[in-house]
Amino acid sequence: MIIIEKNPVSGGQIIDTYEVDNYLGIPGVNGFDLGMKFREHADKLGAEFVDATVSAIEVVEAGSDTKAPVYKVVTDNGEFESNTVILATGAHHSKLEISGEEEFIGKGVSYCATCDGAFYRGKVTAVNGGGDVAVEDAIFLSRFCSKVYLIHRRDELRATKILQEELFGLENVEVIWDSVVKEIKGEDKVNQLVIENVKTKEVSNVDVDGIFVAIGIRPSTDLVDGLVELDGQGYVVAGEDGATSVPGIFVAGDSRKKRLRQIVTAVADGANAVTAVQDFLVGKER
Ligand code: NAP
Repeated sequence: MIIIEKNPVSGGQIIDTYEVDNYLGIPGVNGFDLGMKFREHADKLGAEFVDATVSAIEVVEAGSDTKAPVYKVVTDNGEFESNTVILATGAHHSKLEISGEEEFIGKGVSYCATCDGAFYRGKVTAVNGGGDVAVEDAIFLSRFCSKVYLIHRRDELRATKILQEELFGLENVEVIWDSVVKEIKGEDKVNQLVIENVKTKEVSNVDVDGIFVAIGIRPSTDLVDGLVELDGQGYVVAGEDGATSVPGIFVAGDSRKKRLRQIVTAVADGANAVTAVQDFLVGKER
């Protein structure tokens, strides 16, 4: 088995997380360290890593009930033929793409309240967004932050009513309507947001210790668009075994259509997909 990684560091989204507190058995592990542990473990078990960026996955032979298909994975570091492929391209959080965002990732800018929220006990935070994730994040943060601002670009939330009702009942949450974050400021870490009211164009400053950006995530599936079935949001359609619409191509992790996207579910997907690959190849000529 070869694992093709575009980054020399494994871990995907978790390498941006200073401390992962929701992965069973390793509380408080640094995201980067956890990614490296995963890689070392796979190395030890004999997986071969190839540093490369995949540009295409092509069908060489379609296969049948008795014959395994053949795929060609085209990369900037060679081409690889295989009877099966597991897609584990993950997802990426949509970014605000404003000044200060990249600079303060891990120093006050976070994309995961359940991962990083505990660091803001007694502090003032902001959540940007108006969907289920943003509202859930604000509710979650309100349990330990002294104050939480929810900054949303419209005058009504996209989140479900039940979440909204819970949110509006919280005394330490203040919704800032019709507003967008224009800039994230700080010195060694975040201390202020510059926001603009989109209706009045009034610009103001909000002092915070951190901002949680929750404006949606996007699956990294452009590569397989047109090859396997994707849902309306670009996630690969597959059940728990990871089998996609194309025999021999499997998916694991955040790019799979599913309810909960955490490290623990990605790891479980990986185990299920490998088992499904083994089952798929039984009795097939290769
Ligand atoms: P989402 O539903 O797409 O919401 C994204 C929010 O961010 C929207 O309110 C949007 O504003 C705002 N936004 C988007 N781009 C922005 C930008 N550039 N600047 C400022 N604001 C921006 O995403 P999500 O909350 O991550 O949820 C993703 C999916 O998971 C949804 O289908 C959601 O229902 C589901 N989910 C469900 C649950 C649950 O059932 N409990 C929990 C979590 C997630 P507008 O509203 O103006 O478009």
